[in-house]
Amino acid sequence: MKNSTLSEHKIIKGVFKTKISELLGSKIDFQNWAYERMPEYSWLGLIMSRYGRDEGFKRTYQIVSELSKADYKVKSLRLSDFLALSSEVQKSIFEIISKHICPDALSPLTTIIDSLLSNDFCIAFLPGNVNLEVRIDRMSDLIRIMGDGSSEFATDIRFIVIYYHALTNKIKFTDIMSEKMFDYPNLKPNNPIMVLYGSMIRSLELTVLNGENKENSFDYLELFWERMFRMTNCELMQLRFEENVIDYSVQLAAIKSELNSYKIIIDQSYPFDEKKIVSLGIALFSYKRVCEIVECHLETTIAGRSVLRGIIDSLFMLKYLVLKEGEVPDIWRKYQLHGIGKYKLISEKYIEIQGDKPKTHVPYEYLDILVNEFRDKEFVDMETGFFDNLGPRKLAELVDEKDLYNFFYDYDSSYEHALWGAIRESSFLKCTNPSHLFHYVPDIDNQQKLQSVLPDAFLVMDKIIIALRSVFETREAVQK
Ligand SMILES: [Zn+2]
Repeated sequence: MKNSTLSEHKIIKGVFKTKISELLGSKIDFQNWAYERMPEYSWLGLIMSRYGRDEGFKRTYQIVSELSKADYKVKSLRLSDFLALSSEVQKSIFEIISKHICPDALSPLTTIIDSLLSNDFCIAFLPGNVNLEVRIDRMSDLIRIMGDGSSEFATDIRFIVIYYHALTNKIKFTDIMSEKMFDYPNLKPNNPIMVLYGSMIRSLELTVLNGENKENSFDYLELFWERMFRMTNCELMQLRFEENVIDYSVQLAAIKSELNSYKIIIDQSYPFDEKKIVSLGIALFSYKRVCEIVECHLETTIAGRSVLRGIIDSLFMLKYLVLKEGEVPDIWRKYQLHGIGKYKLISEKYIEIQGDKPKTHVPYEYLDILVNEFRDKEFVDMETGFFDNLGPRKLAELVDEKDLYNFFYDYDSSYEHALWGAIRESSFLKCTNPSHLFHYVPDIDNQQKLQSVLPDAFLVMDKIIIALRSVFETREAVQK
């Protein structure tokens, strides 16, 4: 099935929904082949892998035909259903299977089904000369080749399941349909019609599944995966990115030199020019953060992403202030008041605390001094929202930086707000052992490095410098 493109999604209450999700919503039941059905039909998989496709189909055909005619009712080909039957019936089922295969073919399953679970299974399929490591390796190999439910191998197994249900009259086909379907084992894998039949088989197997009683499955599945997990080792995968080999020191020095020239202009000619001071402040704050990435080697870290997001915030704000200045000449002062008001709110909350004051990294008393230094704090209001009530998305639109928002900022925000995507990417490794169901492994030793943020950090920094030049468009700046 082809994945939906973004434009094919529909936004419902702020959520991009696919067509199928919109239609089916919570009715979607994700039946998992690898987790739920593969362990149940693993005995068929072992037979097919041992004897190959043609011979495997012949042997399983004989087995399922006999099972379908047995006096006792074998309701499905699930191993858990076999194991729930009486010892006498189990013996009889295993006898039928043993008649058509070498018992050793199913010996790998004795790593899961021990004598406590089914002594009859062990007697039937554990010849005694197959060592444990070999049996475990064969189970791991089976899971590897059978785990992809849409593979030709898994489709063959799913065909046998359907075939058994047809033999026991649980599903009925029209003549034409059954004629085509039951020709499936005779098709050669490179026959293009296999693709069509394969998707029919997989859909049918899902239909059969919905009518099945899976009451015996839960304990068996838990045991299956628990034992496979314990018997095999993790195979950890960590993403590796090309190391950044660019030396940014020259670029960093050039930025510093330009910022210094603006500092000199302010010192010499405009010591009280709020527009220039605020603009340079925003650019300098960003420059210092880029320096932190370089000097503290943060380029491939989580912190690097938070830094980049902050630099982008600075760019949006600087461009917005420049844009808005014509309409609101005192925008530079308003911007400062908004920020100082935020500091006032923090220090006022601290002042109101009775008794023991908290000791944190926040210098509460110094914040109070900063507020009063800017203006008598009685005249500083405390806004709780965004400056001018504009969130970053709106700011990005206004300053024509939507791409930066869509392709950088949104991603870095996942890191800033500890969203699961960022946590998964940065703090977990993937175990690629199919016997472990591809579980996540916490990256305690901090092995996972991320893609370097430095090229993007300099790209944004360059945009900030361009915005800053527009503020300092004076003869002095041009002559620097
Ligand atoms: Zn693992």
